[in-house]
Amino acid sequence: MKKLLLVSAVAVLLGAIPFLSADEWKSGIEWVEPPVVDPGPETAPANVPSDAIVLFDGKSMDAWENGENWPIKDGAVYSGKGVVRTKQHFGSVQLHVEFATPSEVKGEGQGRGNSGVFWGPYEVQVLDSYINTTYYDGQCGSIYKENPPAVNCCRKPGEWQTYDIIFMRPEFNEKGELVRPMYVTVFQNGILVQNHLQVKGETYYHLKHFYTAHPAKMPISLQDHGNPVRFRNIWVREISDSPVQPVKPDSPVKPFDVFGPQD
Ligand code: MG
Repeated sequence: MKKLLLVSAVAVLLGAIPFLSADEWKSGIEWVEPPVVDPGPETAPANVPSDAIVLFDGKSMDAWENGENWPIKDGAVYSGKGVVRTKQHFGSVQLHVEFATPSEVKGEGQGRGNSGVFWGPYEVQVLDSYINTTYYDGQCGSIYKENPPAVNCCRKPGEWQTYDIIFMRPEFNEKGELVRPMYVTVFQNGILVQNHLQVKGETYYHLKHFYTAHPAKMPISLQDHGNPVRFRNIWVREISDSPVQPVKPDSPVKPFDVFGPQD
């Protein structure tokens, strides 16, 4: 009888799991598999521009909330317990992040080298997508559950890779209505994987994406997905919200002359 009760209890618990873990949302779009491109060998850490704000220099996670729970070793920080968020909040940014998925390959699909780089609630996926197939809009370089990368240019597990991301923030009016969507551009290992993609909303796993009004400045965050992904050399430059600088009202606009100046 005791055994029966135990079995029943386990069955009830197992039955409850789908209610505890949210069901996956699928867009229904059938994507083409991104072709594989070899980005070449890993490189030394990128230079830091003089006007950049350094978020991680290999020594300190002081720029991040919860940074004390991400261990630093040999100039790299490992994805640890809980998400880390920058204490400073940013508008539109150019963000440089270097990452390496674990050299010891464990798990498959979304369970291999999973992390993520966020501005506010919008994720650029980090995953070990080196000979590891998963849904294409969830592989490395994807805007999570929205758009696959143009190509799969992952380096091997354990090798350093780079993300150069332009997050153009969305804008909301006083009523909380969206007046300009988010746009994201991503270079992975110097290769374009997202080209000024218009984002549909917060990059949920379990819901169709939609926007919820939020402040103009938001933290940048790195995801804890239970895999010890390493990061190094993280810096950010806040940029203009407009991709094109407006012409000053007092500057006459000259017609473009394809032949150049004539004299
Ligand atoms: Mg992720």
